[in-house]
Amino acid sequence: MSNQLHDLTRNADDVIIVGGGLAGLFCALKLAPRPVTVVSAAPLGQGASTAWAQGGIAAAVAEGDSAEAHAADTVAAGAGLVDETIALGIAREAGARIHDLLRYGVPFDRDLEGRLAVGREAAHSARRIVHVRGDMAGQAIISALAEAVRATPSIRLIEGYAAEALLTEDDAVTGVQLRKAGDATATPVTIASRAVVLATGGIGHLYAVTTNPAEASGLGLAIAARAGAIVADPEFVQFHPTAIMAGRDPAPLATEALRGEGATLINDKGERFMLARHPLAELAPRDIVARGVFAEIAAGRGAFLDARDALGARFAEKFPTVYASCMAAGVDPARQPIPVAPAAHYHMGGIAVDPHGRSSLRGLWAGGEVSSTGAHGANRLASNSLLEAVVYAARIAEDIDGGTIAAPAGLAKPMELRNSAFSASSEARLRAIMTSHVGVIRDGERLAEAVRTLASIEQDAGNVALRNMATSALLVAASAWARRESRGAQYRIDFLAERPELGHRTRTTLTEARQIAASLGGRTEVRAAQPMIA
Ligand SMILES: Cc1cc2nc3c(=O)[nH]c(=O)nc-3n(C[C@H](O)[C@H](O)[C@H](O)COP(=O)(O)OP(=O)(O)OC[C@H]3O[C@@H](n4cnc5c(N)ncnc54)[C@H](O)[C@@H]3O)c2cc1C
Repeated sequence: MSNQLHDLTRNADDVIIVGGGLAGLFCALKLAPRPVTVVSAAPLGQGASTAWAQGGIAAAVAEGDSAEAHAADTVAAGAGLVDETIALGIAREAGARIHDLLRYGVPFDRDLEGRLAVGREAAHSARRIVHVRGDMAGQAIISALAEAVRATPSIRLIEGYAAEALLTEDDAVTGVQLRKAGDATATPVTIASRAVVLATGGIGHLYAVTTNPAEASGLGLAIAARAGAIVADPEFVQFHPTAIMAGRDPAPLATEALRGEGATLINDKGERFMLARHPLAELAPRDIVARGVFAEIAAGRGAFLDARDALGARFAEKFPTVYASCMAAGVDPARQPIPVAPAAHYHMGGIAVDPHGRSSLRGLWAGGEVSSTGAHGANRLASNSLLEAVVYAARIAEDIDGGTIAAPAGLAKPMELRNSAFSASSEARLRAIMTSHVGVIRDGERLAEAVRTLASIEQDAGNVALRNMATSALLVAASAWARRESRGAQYRIDFLAERPELGHRTRTTLTEARQIAASLGGRTEVRAAQPMIA
């Protein structure tokens, strides 16, 4: 590996894709036979949210369904911030991308007549989720694509290296700086390139409780923001209401289907607390259930998913994955309520991109969860994220292949970066404050405290990975503080109503986030200024 890296540093690579999930691998395959380098912090198949997707991909491929209906559902879920043209464009390309995935070997389930089988999910008005062997979509997609990538000679793979900075020259991205993942003492390596595609996934690991892998720690978002890229909607983070508190990080999911089967949510007094919160009780929309669970835990009463009456002895057979997670934690879900908590699950915000996946920086594209296209608005519709990843990966490949790359002058210069040991206690502090202050239920005072703390972690961190985590966390907290309303996944107890005058997407930069920190009395070197959302 080190020889290979040494060679890479000599000449400008054509295209570098950072990320080995659906967005990164699909983009690499679409660009073949053009030479590309794929860099992945974890070995292919691991450390990617893609591998854990249980539902599937939303695609209006069934008879009677339409892209227009799919787009309408997407718009309805996004609480006024979905870009309708983008949502419709994605829905229209779904069928073609599903056929690409079939060609790459993804074995989507079919019905008896050989047509793609489609399942139903909450807030979709039609059956339109294509899936694999029930809940195995993510695993099947990643296995098929990893195999196809390894069999494609034009794709060079660098596994186990994390991108920690973008190299820039005259406002253009000219390469990436990598370091052996998890080894703070390793010497960084730079690779010059004409085009960089960031496909590094989400930010769940910035929170103490998350369903995402540790690699989803916002590093891609941070390095783009540090290079000056515009960031969109960072405040919008979707929480899954029922992660199993089994002492595992990341937390395993207790699927929504359990509540569909009649499992109830209770506190430690045995009270069904969702009854008072919504007419649909446990079957209320995901963000409302997440807030109910969070409030019960915050009040010290705990939250538990009780499937004893609904499933009892049938639990193991009907939900084997959840059953195994519970048993491993010493909870028998047939006889005991399962302790649950809301967990950071999906980031609607990210690097702002146009319909081709181009960021605001020349030479930088972004696709998948690290990007923000406008498709999700303030709340993602279930199973739209894999679809968005695959649609934008194809568009990015087409854009790069279409010869629109303006080659930056000169080779990338390495950045001077000293690095100290990664501080697990600082990381724990960052993740704890994100969960308690920038989580499911927010208010101005605690957000301001989080902004000040995160700005100081960002400023003090001698370790590049920790600093990058703090950068992304600061972007989320500062924008959550600045958006003085409740909308979609952002719920503020000091501004409970949605405010029509704020019904537009956030576009911000790291400079603006640091200015917000300064205006709140945070220790930062930049001059204080007004926040961008009143
Ligand atoms: C438990 C779970 C279930 C889900 N179920 C569904 C579902 O049913 N349907 C749906 O549509 N969505 C679902 N989602 C969301 C969906 O899986 C993700 O949004 C999507 O897979 C993101 O794909 P991606 O390629 O952008 O990122 P990922 O698949 O997360 O891949 C990111 C890649 O980047 C690498 N990486 C990260 N940082 C760096 C770095 N600095 N340098 C180098 N490499 C780096 C990682 O190792 C990884 O290879 C689910 C998510 C979770 C966590």
